Amino acid sequence: TRTPVNVTVTGAAGQIGYALLFRIASGHLLGADVPVNLRLLEIPQGLKAAEGTAMELDDCAFPLLRGIEITDDPNVAFDGANVALLVGARPRTKGMERGDLLSANGGIFKPQGKAINDNAADDIKVLVVGNPANTNALIAQAAAPDVPAERFTAMTRLDHNRAISQLAKKTGAAVSDIKRLTIWGNHSATQYPDVFHAEIAGKNAAELVNDEAWLADTFIPTVAKRGAAIIEARGASSAASAANAAIDHVHTWVNGTAEGDWTSMGIPSDGSYGVPEGLISSFPVTVKNGTYEIVQGLEINDFSRARIDASVKELTEERDAVRALGLI
Ligand code: NDP
Repeated sequence: TRTPVNVTVTGAAGQIGYALLFRIASGHLLGADVPVNLRLLEIPQGLKAAEGTAMELDDCAFPLLRGIEITDDPNVAFDGANVALLVGARPRTKGMERGDLLSANGGIFKPQGKAINDNAADDIKVLVVGNPANTNALIAQAAAPDVPAERFTAMTRLDHNRAISQLAKKTGAAVSDIKRLTIWGNHSATQYPDVFHAEIAGKNAAELVNDEAWLADTFIPTVAKRGAAIIEARGASSAASAANAAIDHVHTWVNGTAEGDWTSMGIPSDGSYGVPEGLISSFPVTVKNGTYEIVQGLEINDFSRARIDASVKELTEERDAVRALGLI
């Protein structure tokens, strides 16, 4: 029998946490044969609700779920953690300036990064979901100098999945026929979903669509503003699809990408494609044996270049802002 994998979820009592925990416990995160211990981190006001969720987890009698621990202490939550899903974050509220948002999140992600540094297992893999995800990941990573930087990642898989779905709708293709789509840059409205290297049943997606106006005026804004459209329709922000994307991100990181395909992950840049080294930006990546690599050698046309640069500029500004605040 395998030793259980320790999975820590922050903001566990929130909406995304509620959609996420049951799928982790049922084996969708790591595999149907991998037992898990869950560690739920919440702020003190969230502990009672987290207890309630833990009661429901008990009531599912999941064969793979070996234990649940609930705490408001990051040092306890990340003790021996193999996988950390950082979901809890300070949302932007009305009238809040970017500096206020970044410093509120610095107060969350800096101590969590330090707690990961001091307590997590050597093979720790971190996914940041809480927004602004890329910059929160950068803050946590900077606070964890003993952990290899590449273990800190930010989620752009929901954007990736949204883009595949929109492209499937437009072309009438099956979702499973769409490969090699890329999200570049920041998980924000400036993100760039790139179809120029994507394939639909083996054919180039941009050539099949053959409609640059649709790409610029419909596809890209629909993907980038999907979160707002869901709030408008549901009266609440997307939660199940965000949780699903977090599951996909970690599952791919652990189990690899399919031959001939790639995925999108926010990862520390090595300078590829002109993205300044160290910024946590989304790239096309392949994964093998638990290690990801940026897909190299893609030709970037002018349409793509301008959009990648704009998103990377925003990431650079966010990094400069958290640097000025002393958070990294
Ligand atoms: P959600 O569970 O809905 O969202 C959590 C975070 O995920 C937010 O930052 C949200 O960003 C982000 N997010 C990323 N992608 C998406 C997406 N596609 N759709 C929606 N959200 C996305 O928030 P709740 O308020 O329900 O729950 C947050 C929980 O976190 C609370 O229980 C709170 O107590 C806890 N918390 C825990 C902390 C800790 O453990 N130290 C610190 C702070 C909070 P956005 O706001 O931009 O939508």
